[in-house]
Amino acid sequence: MSPSIPDMQWAQVIEQKGGPSVYKQIPVPKPGPDEVLIKVRYSGVCHTDLHAMKGDWPLPLKQPLVGGHEGAGIVVAKGELAKGIEIGDHAGIKWLNGSCLACEFCKTSDEPLCPDAELSGYTVDGTFQQYAIGKAAHVSKLPKEVALDAVAPILCAGVTVYKGLKESGAKPGQTVAIVGAGGGLGSLAQQYAKAMGLRVIAIDGGDEKRGMCEQLGAEAYIDFTKSKDLVEDVKAATPGGLGAHAVLLLAVSEKPFQQAVEYARPRGSIVAIGMPANAFLKAPVFTTVVKMINIKGSYVGNRQDGVEAVDFFVRGLIKAPYKTVPLKELPEVFELMEQGKIAGRYVLEIPE
Ligand code: NAD
Ligand code: ZN
Ligand code: ZN
Repeated sequence: MSPSIPDMQWAQVIEQKGGPSVYKQIPVPKPGPDEVLIKVRYSGVCHTDLHAMKGDWPLPLKQPLVGGHEGAGIVVAKGELAKGIEIGDHAGIKWLNGSCLACEFCKTSDEPLCPDAELSGYTVDGTFQQYAIGKAAHVSKLPKEVALDAVAPILCAGVTVYKGLKESGAKPGQTVAIVGAGGGLGSLAQQYAKAMGLRVIAIDGGDEKRGMCEQLGAEAYIDFTKSKDLVEDVKAATPGGLGAHAVLLLAVSEKPFQQAVEYARPRGSIVAIGMPANAFLKAPVFTTVVKMINIKGSYVGNRQDGVEAVDFFVRGLIKAPYKTVPLKELPEVFELMEQGKIAGRYVLEIPE
């Protein structure tokens, strides 16, 4: 390895399920033949990182674990089989760190469904460290003129909501209700929706998020903490009061997953993306049938979705607010996230 790469580095490490995340020195990993080593400059903090630490999901977690999967930085080393990417390139590590590239899902551009998928900051160490590993076939190349702090949240939140909007089937001019609009995914979803010609109804809680959603271009903001009849309020905000053509469920609580069918428009689609712990999607069969509602899940994006989501950003179409704090402050970010107090995204600055 090049002498400029140290043996030890700073990282946030979750020693056991439940946390906390501890700021400490650990060895710098070495890339395998098909991998690159990225000097991470910035990493967004996704609610998935908090779910991982808390052990919210029925999927085993690597332990000890370095979290993080919205990492943007510079390639500093590569294995001999790593193709299409060079030392010095700017690149991003996403949730999907690697996949087998040989199974039926990988062959048909559904890599997130690969049974051997490796997940950054979950089954393999992620981007809350100075040097992180990604499979060369899966890292996102980033143009050098793009600011690495601003682009970081695109690598999970951006890709995921862009894919979710495509999966919804909503067409330009139609209305999408974004539930959890004030969070990291939600703020970016509003921008992608707008860039894709969709009209946005934002649903979240509190006045700080209201202000942000109005700035991001939402036509209406419904405050779930104040509304006396959320279903009626959402319908009233849609053209003709018919309901939303698409509902993007990004919230971290179960209730909206039980409610969305009521304010979706007939023939509308409901896309589940948020993953609150132990939650169920529930819908009245009668209403679902007579309104011909389409209910589906959407999980990150494939490599090409990543390219497209970054491209929207590079063309200046996606601007969502983020706050930058040092890597060592991750526990404070988790605390604010747990309390639902983050409007937009937090991005960690990784020490040089
Ligand atoms: P976040 O904490 O930034 O945002 C969540 C938002 O939901 C907050 O603004 C919160 O106020 C809001 N909310 C909570 N209860 C609500 C309710 N009843 N109605 C409306 N809004 C409500 O989280 P994030 O980083 O944006 O992630 C959101 C979810 O998406 C998490 O569960 C995360 O794990 C998941 N996620 C899924 C994928 C995927 O591929 N499907 C990818 C990334 C993240
Ligand atoms: Zn994420
Ligand atoms: Zn595969």
